[in-house]
Formats: sequence, structure tokens, C-alpha cells
Amino acid sequence: MDRRQFLKAGSVAALSASGASKAAQAETPTSDKALEKFAPNSLKPEFVVDGKTVKPAEGQRFAFSKCYGCFNVCGARVSIDEATDQVVRAWGNPYMLTSNTEPFSMSVPPSEAMFRLAAASQYNQDNAATLCGRGNAVLDAFSNKHRVTQCLKRVGKRGENKWKTISYEQLIKEVTEGGNLFGEGHVDGLKAIHANPNYANPLYPDFGPVKNQLLVSTSTEQANRWDFMHRFTHSAWGTPNVGNKDSYCGHQQAAGWGLGCFDVVDEIALPITDFEHCKFAIFIGTNPGLSGNSLNSGSRRLAKARAERGDFKYVVVDPLLRSLTSETDTENGEWVPIRAGGDTALLFGMLQCIINHKRYRQNYLAAPSQAAADKQGEVNYTNASYLVVKQPGHPLHNRFLTAEAMGLGSAEVKMVRREADGKLVTSDSDQQASLIYQGEAKLADGSKVNVETAFALLKKRVNEHSLEQYAKHSGVPVAKIQELAREFTSHGRQVAIETNTGCNATDGGQCAYAMAMLATMVGAHNAKGGLNHMNGVGFGMMYEIYDGPLYKLNDFAHAEPVGFNAERSGDYEQSEEYKAKLTRGEPPYPANQPWNNTFVQENSGEMLVAHANANPFQFKAWFIWSTNPIYNCSGLKDQVVDSITDPDQLGLIIGIDPYINETNVYADYLVPDLLQYEQWMYSRMWGSEYIGDVACVPVIEPKTVKDAKGNPVCMEQFVIDVSKALGLPGFGDDAFSDAKGRRYGLHLPQDLYVPLFANAAHSGEVLPSPTQEEIQFTSVDRIQGEFAKRLKPEEMGPTLFMLTRGGRYEQLEQRYDGEFLNPAIRMDVQFQVYNEALAQVKDSYSGEYLDGQPVFDVDRFWDGSAVRDRWSETQYPFSFSTFKPQLRNAYSAQLPRLTALGEANFIQMNAEDANKYGLKSGDRAQVLSPKGTHLEGVVQADHSVARGTISVGIGFGHSQFGAQSVTIDGEVIPGQAERAGGINPNPFNVVDPTRKGASLYRDRTFGSTCRHGVPVGIRKV
Ligand code: SF4
Repeated sequence: MDRRQFLKAGSVAALSASGASKAAQAETPTSDKALEKFAPNSLKPEFVVDGKTVKPAEGQRFAFSKCYGCFNVCGARVSIDEATDQVVRAWGNPYMLTSNTEPFSMSVPPSEAMFRLAAASQYNQDNAATLCGRGNAVLDAFSNKHRVTQCLKRVGKRGENKWKTISYEQLIKEVTEGGNLFGEGHVDGLKAIHANPNYANPLYPDFGPVKNQLLVSTSTEQANRWDFMHRFTHSAWGTPNVGNKDSYCGHQQAAGWGLGCFDVVDEIALPITDFEHCKFAIFIGTNPGLSGNSLNSGSRRLAKARAERGDFKYVVVDPLLRSLTSETDTENGEWVPIRAGGDTALLFGMLQCIINHKRYRQNYLAAPSQAAADKQGEVNYTNASYLVVKQPGHPLHNRFLTAEAMGLGSAEVKMVRREADGKLVTSDSDQQASLIYQGEAKLADGSKVNVETAFALLKKRVNEHSLEQYAKHSGVPVAKIQELAREFTSHGRQVAIETNTGCNATDGGQCAYAMAMLATMVGAHNAKGGLNHMNGVGFGMMYEIYDGPLYKLNDFAHAEPVGFNAERSGDYEQSEEYKAKLTRGEPPYPANQPWNNTFVQENSGEMLVAHANANPFQFKAWFIWSTNPIYNCSGLKDQVVDSITDPDQLGLIIGIDPYINETNVYADYLVPDLLQYEQWMYSRMWGSEYIGDVACVPVIEPKTVKDAKGNPVCMEQFVIDVSKALGLPGFGDDAFSDAKGRRYGLHLPQDLYVPLFANAAHSGEVLPSPTQEEIQFTSVDRIQGEFAKRLKPEEMGPTLFMLTRGGRYEQLEQRYDGEFLNPAIRMDVQFQVYNEALAQVKDSYSGEYLDGQPVFDVDRFWDGSAVRDRWSETQYPFSFSTFKPQLRNAYSAQLPRLTALGEANFIQMNAEDANKYGLKSGDRAQVLSPKGTHLEGVVQADHSVARGTISVGIGFGHSQFGAQSVTIDGEVIPGQAERAGGINPNPFNVVDPTRKGASLYRDRTFGSTCRHGVPVGIRKV
């Protein structure tokens, strides 16, 4: 109903209110016809309830699927109009924790599950099983006029957005064979690139052969669709140059948390709050359920905790006041404004208060082994009491003192000081060890070394600065830091601290490491009411579903990628550059470009920077599938755009996507891809704390063009057909085997997905079989034939059962085990107060080892110089931050239900700060970057932003996704102005001037791209 209709209807209703109520009494809406009369614009109800049975509304069918309105991938259920084959409504899948606080047992039949959701069932309506606002808006993406459904080839220059339709077969032929494809000269096809055995750059042989000059930019969030692409890229073609979005999105926080949880540098962790029993939670740089942590499940659990429990409080530490706290009502939830990029200072202040006032969990921290932890009633232990050698020049300097060095055992066993008698003993002792100790240890060879416990080092570390200094750096007053520390240590283990994409200054990794340390101080990991580390852990991650009980899907001769990737992930000291410098007698440090030996991050942005610098080489071909780094990667666009628009520098660009975005607009060819309800997908659910996955099949006919054999064109089909044309392993005939060694081919996407689903259904406890009624009720009968063609009869039942529930999860009888989570949803590891592995990684500029403990420092460039020394407070007095509004994301500009909520974003700042510059809400202003660029938009000045900070939401300011007109086959599809509204802060953001050539601004520990705490200025226009 449009606004005019709405007003008209409203006034009629107001005039005849009393009459209407009588009419309503007289004519109860019991039939579809009557309902249409009362609510002419409403959709049909999902189900008609008759007694205790439900059936879909007339003309509709029901199915389970997944939501991909964001990367959480919540379980979904949908109603499909039979006449139009369109999904007309989407809700949550009640079997999945992401959409239902207490998910139904998989033993509940689907029709019974749906009945329980109906009001008539009088079942607990907490279980309404919903999707969030974004999830409800994605329905409009399917038949959008700007959707790419045909195979397109560019006409004119790259980026002009002029295309012609070609057949899929022509596209495959041209991209594989190459030739003078655009009248601009010869282009190497994929065949020639793959077959070339020469080095990509003879000066850098360690970066591998010419076939490494294929770059594939993707997104791991596509779950097993990403696996499909990875099968091609990594195992069939064999290039190490796979880029994804994590490392310019928030990888450093997950990796930083990993430092506090594992004794390696290449793991991730990202726990969520156990809302149901938590007493006090801190959210750093995000609101609960926002910024990528499930809006659907996180916000529901928060609301329930707030509404039902008077003993739950939470604090949001964020430069920006967002929706889930308020300025005036601070009883349950409080906003603590912080200067953008000041988070680590706050956390160090809290750690200082906690350690200096002995408010940590002493017995937990002093247990050096599992045996000692068991005696204390703890389920995990830490290395807080382990002795670190502090003897410069000694081989064990900054490493743990080992039993081997003491002549008492192996190098794997470390040493501690037994608290009871002060004796140095091995760390497998079941006795409590000293937390604070500094002294000498006599080694087996008679020498002596200085040693100090990890905890004592941490105490020194957090006392390197005063509380006042931490307060100044963070903008959080001393009293508030003390209060937060006190509150955090006043509820036993029932406290939590979490983030997601929240702290992306140059110390984002360190900030997350410090967060993990705070949780360790109170033993909140794996605790009831504490932190749950199973966030988003999929069934497919816990079981080998590619090498499953029925099918061995990876059973083929894999191509092994050779060489470092172009963004230089790995050990610089193993590189040719390092060795050559030593041979020439030159100092090997700094490296020519930054290396990263902490986490192989696969940063699409850094790969493109390497290409722009032609160092180690330029790419010859680029696949852009389901990703948009030019729009999303902070600082990237102007660094690389010339090098990708020039066909002489990059011969072949292929975009695979349902939409033209700001990156694939430069493609030579566009391959249409599927949207969520059209896909095969097996995926983890972000925000689910049970081990579980969604499993879904196409529930509507894909809208993409068909190939000559009648199969819908999509990413998987493209990858299959390119592989077959090139004769790559793992695709075509003889692609994998079953458990008995029989070989199978992979010619269609379902050739892989069907056996994958069968493996998932038969892993762990084999699922039962569904009834025929369940199969029909969930519309699984429509796809049953695809399974019957590929599976053995006895494999059908459990596999279809999984689909009749939309996936599977491991249901727990008991969620808790005493004070802790059930072991099935715990991450039982040794938590790290000192990460020894990190202390063995060298900085590629200075050649110095990194520190094994969190570091608080000012923001620094790659060369170690302070950012503020170059970009002064006087010239750039503000710190910049970006944020993800709750109902927008980078793909949402094409959803009218979301653009209707607001077409533009604002330059958000504190009213006092704005006043100083003569600005008020509604004024136009320019935010000034030291990069020499500016961002012009409308000011929103109030008290919802921390002093000294300017913040801009992302997901606006698009030039593509239908924001501008597109020409296909000479016909212009006009752009839609509402899609272009607002400003995109990413291209404006800074890069690192201490790097050579094109660059990005980097996290100091993980090399991820940063975007927060960046100096900026402002001026009125
Ligand atoms: S949180 Fe994301 S996946 Fe879940 S319902 Fe919302 S948009 Fe869909």
C-alpha cells in the first residue's frame, strides 16, 4: 500500500471506527476471501490451521532454506507462490538456534513444528522463529531489474558498464582459449596461463610459476560454495593467490583472540556471551548482535536477558551510541563513549586495576596443568605460571624454560615454580605454581639464566603506563576504567567481553589479545554465563564431511600450489630476497614490502596492491566471485584502479556475481550467479552455539540463463566447465570416489553437493529416515530425484531427513555442566598469558621479534614511526571510525525495503566538537584525510558520538548495484538514485606512506587492513 492509499484507508477507518468493529464482529475472517477483504494488501498466511494439522495457504508451498541477508547464514523457512515461483515470505527455521532461542528437537515432525509456531497451538510464543529485518528484505533481490541473469561481455572500455549478451558456451570458449577478444590485442586465455611452466617473475622464483598469475578473489562466508571454488583454485588449478575479504573486514580481532587461546599464531577464536546466565558483559566497538555478530540470535538473546533478568547488565564501549543502549536509561545497558582507536588503552587500564588489586582468579591462573586444574574444580588451565627465560643472547630468550634445558625431560614440557616449596618443577605438576616470581634457574649444563613467570611479565607490562595515561589515550575517565574493572571482577565467571569488527586501528590484533586476557583473568572461558567459544562452529567443521563415511570427495590428484602468495604470507627469511641480500652483504631488513608470518590472511586488497606495484608480478587473470574489494577495502581504490582498468597490465577479468558491483564493473566477462534460495548450500550458522549447519537445496527455479544442456549458469557450473576445458583434476570424469573406491564424475554442482549432504547426514550419529508426508510437506520431493540418481537407496533416508529439517545440529540434553558449559560446546584449550609462538615471529621491517604478550602502543606505520608524528593533532584533530548500521551492509543498496528506511548516511560527530567548527546537524562538510582526499556529506551533530571522533556508517555511497545506468545490448537500464545515496568512507581512508608504491594501512601484528583511529580533519562547505 502506498502512502496515499494508506492515508485514505486510515481516514475511512477513523470515520467509521464504531461501525467497523460491529462489522468485524458480524463477519469473522475465517476464509481467505474474508481475510482479503479485511487486509487487501496482506500476504496470505503461511499456514492454514485445521484442528492440529497445518497446510500451506492455497497456491503456496513450504520449504526450508537459509538466509544470506548477511554472513550469519541463519536457518530460514519460506513460503513460495506456486504460480510465480517466487518466495513471498521468509521466517526463521525453528530447528536452528540462530532463529529460535530454544530450537526444536529434530525428532519433531516439520508439520508439528509449524503447528507449534501457530497461535492456535498455544505453544510458548518465544519460539516464533524469526529472521531479522535484513533477512525479510532480501526477497526483493531476486527479480530486481539490475540483477545479472545473462552471460555478459564488455563492449567499450573496462568500467564503462556497457555490455553485450553472449552465450555461456561462447564465454567458456573465449576465456579458456583467449585471443584478440576485444579488438585491443591478444589476451592470454586460461589454458595458456595454466600451461606455462616458466616463473611468473624470474627475479622472484619463490613466488612460483606463471599459473600463479591467476588471482581469485572470493568470500569464505559462502561456506561450502567457497569450498567448491577453493577446490578449483587451490587443488585443481594450483595457485596460492586466493584473496578473501576477512583481512580487510575484521580478521585481526579473531586472530588476536586466537593468540590468547592457542599456543600458535595462526588460529582464530571469537567467543560470544552466554546471555542466559551472564551477569555483566562488555561489548567492544560493537553492539550486541551488530557488526556481523548475529543480529538475529544475539539481539533476541540480549532482549530476553534484559527483559527477564534483573541481574544482567552490559556495557557497550564504542565511539558511537547505537540502537541497543540509550543515553538516559543506563540501568541494564550503558554506553561508554571511547575515542576511536582507544580500546587497547582501556583494556590495559582494566588489566592494571585487576592485577594490581589482585582481583583475578588466583587458583585458576596458578594451575599449571590439567591435573592441577582438576584439583581446583577448573575445566581449563593457563600458562600464567610458566617461566619465561629473560636472558638476551640465550637461545631460549623470550621462550619458556624447558624441562630439556633443565635436564628433566623434553623440550615440549615447560618449567614452573612450585608455590608450596619454591622448587622449579615441570609444568605437568598437579601442584599450584607461583604466579609472581622472578629469579635464576640453573640449567643442566651448569649455566644460569634469568627467568620470570608469564603473569609477572604481564603485571609489568600493564604497569608500563599510568591509569591516567590509559584514560587520556582512550578518552574514558580513570573512574570509569576502575568501575569497569571492578564490575568485571564482581560476578565470578559470569562475565563476558566480546567484539566483532570492532577495533580496527593498527593495534586491532593486540586489542583482541588483551580482551582474551581479561577473560582469562576471571576464568570466563567456557563458563556458564561467561564466554562460549563455539560461536558459528559448523557440524561440517567437526566432522570430515569431504572425506566422510560414504564419499571421499577429495580423493583426486591435487595440484599443489608452489610459491609464496603475492601478498607475502610466510617467513621473509625463507625468501629469495632475504637470501640475495645476505649474499650481497646487504642488511636484509627492512624487507622490500611487508611480510606476514602470523596468519596467512589471503587479503584481496593486498593481492591487488602487489599487482599495482608489479611486485612480485602482475596478474594475468582475475576471478572476482561474490566479493567487492574496491568498495569495501579501506584505502584501496585509488591505489590499484589504474592497474586493473588497463588490459595491458591485467589481461582477463571475470566477474561471477548476481549483481554488478564496484569491483566486477571492471570485468571483461560477467557470469551470472545464484541468489540464496536458488543455491545448494551447506553452511555453519554464525551466532549458533550448538554445533550445527544449514543444508539447503534450490527451492525455486534459478533465474540465471541456462547453458546449452539446460543447466542454470552459476559459479559452480563455470568452474566445472573451465576445469573440464583445461583438463584439471577433481572435475569432470573421475573426480572422487566412494568409500569402496568406486569413481564418480563431477559435471554438475549437485554431483558434489548430493554426496556431501549424504556424508553430513551419516557423520556422527546417523540420522533417521523421514516419512513421505515430511518429504512432501517440506517440498523436498521436488528435488528428491537428484538424490535418487546419485545415492544408493540406503543412503537416501538420512540425507532427506536432514533436508526436511533444513540442516542438522547436535542437540544437547543439558547445556551446562555445573559452573561450565557442556563439554560438547566447550573449547578446552590451554589459555595463553604468554604466547611463545608469537615471540618467535620477526617484524619484516625491523627484523626484531614480536612480543609474546599484548602490547599497548600508539598507532604506528609499517616502519615503526608513530602515525601522529606524521599527521599531527593540530592539522588532523579527529580520530576517524566507520561502523555497520544494523540494517545496511555492502550488498543492501539494491533492497528497496532497506533503502526506504534511509537513503543516505551522515558525518556523525559530537555537537560540542561540531560547534567549534561552526557546524550543526544538516550542514554540509568535508572530512579531510591526510591522504589528500576528502569525504563530503551532511553532518549529524549530537551527543551520540565520543568527543574527538568522526564516524561514518558503511553500506552507502554506491556507484553500482544499479545506482548508475547500465547498457546491455544497446539498451539502457536506468540507475536508481536511492541506491547511490550517502557516502562511502572506504576509498577515502588512508594508506601507509612508509611503504613503497601502492599500499594499505596495516595491523601491526596480522597485516590486516585498518580503518579506525585514523587522523582526520573537518571543514564546512
Ligand atoms: S542475521 Fe543475517 S542471515 Fe540472519 S536473518 Fe538477519 S540478515 Fe539473515
